[in-house]
Amino acid sequence: MSQLRLDPLTGRWVVIAAERAARPDAFVRPVLEVQADPSRCPFCPGNEEATPPALETYGPNGGWLVRVVPNLYPAFAGDEPMAVSTFGPVFTQAPASGIHEVLVLSPEHSVPWSGLSDAQAGLVMAAIRDRVAEHASTAGLRYSQVIVNSGREAGASLEHPHAQLLGMPFVPREVADEQAGFARFEGNCLLCTVADAEQGVGHRIVQEDERAIVVCPYWSGTPYEMLIIPKAHDAHIHRAAPLDVAGVGRAIRDCLVSLEATVGPVAYNVVFHAAPYRASGGFHWHVHLLPKLTTRAGFELGTGVPINLVAPEDAAGALRANDQTAAAS
Ligand SMILES: [Zn+2]
Ligand SMILES: [Zn+2]
Ligand SMILES: [Zn+2]
Repeated sequence: MSQLRLDPLTGRWVVIAAERAARPDAFVRPVLEVQADPSRCPFCPGNEEATPPALETYGPNGGWLVRVVPNLYPAFAGDEPMAVSTFGPVFTQAPASGIHEVLVLSPEHSVPWSGLSDAQAGLVMAAIRDRVAEHASTAGLRYSQVIVNSGREAGASLEHPHAQLLGMPFVPREVADEQAGFARFEGNCLLCTVADAEQGVGHRIVQEDERAIVVCPYWSGTPYEMLIIPKAHDAHIHRAAPLDVAGVGRAIRDCLVSLEATVGPVAYNVVFHAAPYRASGGFHWHVHLLPKLTTRAGFELGTGVPINLVAPEDAAGALRANDQTAAAS
């Protein structure tokens, strides 16, 4: 029997249709190569002149370990105020002012987040935290969206592993929906409660350490979806303690290792969520890890209701069995 589950963050229903499923290898297919020739990669050391000058670099003098550059084809740019213009009854527009940056995860062309050392994952997260703090102090901006697209099916156009940071002059719908979810929740904090409740039952936990807990959420809309919750309650990544931020970076790495061990090479999106900079009201920053194993088809596009063929309890069990951190300890 399929089941409806409510996503308390967004207020949306999800269909868990596990009887139609779907062993892990049912999804395996080759990951499309993004770009074959690393010698022409704009993100490799030695090719720095192929990008605009760096906004920030991290690493020893004379070299870099993490590099932040402006996106050559920005979705948001400039500092015009968000002035809404209306042309007739249904044509409303505003300048897409803001910031669009690329954060190169490491000098290594072929090392994705799953291959980063603890130190490098920590440095990437420190850089993200710094950049979001910088965005937050920029007049006219309200929210920063941090993402990683890995693999062409997930939207990556360059192979060299990188994140993107988009500083925006409005609060996007998905984040506004989550803010409403926190506000609607009658307990103390929705995600602190999720962490407690999942510890109580245990079977949707993928991994856990003193900084972060990773679960396949009860309301997973996509197979092997994971939610990474820092244990310390903070609304904003840019105000969270550096050790907690670094811990989430390690958790992302470990989840990606488990994911690949479970389903094979796979494209994925990593999506960070934090409160809008000046929001009052509850929020708890977190990271969604969304493997690209299925395509949103007509029903999902028509209704906004996902159908998930893998029950999150089964997904978590499989991922946990492939958790290298547990095996090592
Ligand atoms: Zn490269
Ligand atoms: Zn919380
Ligand atoms: Zn979220």
